[in-house]
Amino acid sequence: MARYTGPSCKLCRREGAKLYLKGERCLSDKCAFNRRACAPGQHGAAKKKMTEYGTQMREKQKAKRYYGVLEKQFKNYYVKADNQEGIAGENLLRLLERRLDNVVYRMGLANSHKEARQLVLHGHFTVNGKKADIPSILVKPGDVVALKETDSTKLKGLLESMNDKIVPKWLDVDTKAGSAKVVAMPERDDIDFEFNEQLIIELYSK
Ligand code: SF4
Repeated sequence: MARYTGPSCKLCRREGAKLYLKGERCLSDKCAFNRRACAPGQHGAAKKKMTEYGTQMREKQKAKRYYGVLEKQFKNYYVKADNQEGIAGENLLRLLERRLDNVVYRMGLANSHKEARQLVLHGHFTVNGKKADIPSILVKPGDVVALKETDSTKLKGLLESMNDKIVPKWLDVDTKAGSAKVVAMPERDDIDFEFNEQLIIELYSK
């Protein structure tokens, strides 16, 4: 399964936004974006006028990098979103939100999407009682995502950390069992990260 393995902080600086890719470090003084918010590279600090295409491209890259999805899979999400009823941009974000690794992140069991993806790949979760180790599984209302076992020291620590996290209303979380029931489809308002999804749709519709 392909994934980005380069430096995470460079991505935040490139996109001009904190993407929260490194968990607790992102909230500390060590955050590279807080210390140096300009784009990476020799001319990163130079002010450049962005073209319309450039703006759309940056928005797409920002969403891809935030959710940890590579280009081919992201394009597939766009095609699926465009074929669904409703507003394509919102459909796209809804699909990304419903990924199993994102659900684990939203449940508060991981400090970043990357950590959530790793927990899923290591087989720590079930969906409706069945082993689920593919981060791109899409959950739907009625599904129950749960930790497979809760007695190892590491997983106990994760359960404790759940209490401090704000969970979106489309998930009904049980912090004792380390599980969450999907009670609704995620709505646009439930996504607290700033995206202009319309720009992404305009880019792909060219
Ligand atoms: Fe981005 Fe986190 Fe690195 Fe800060 S610490 S630049 S938010 S990945």
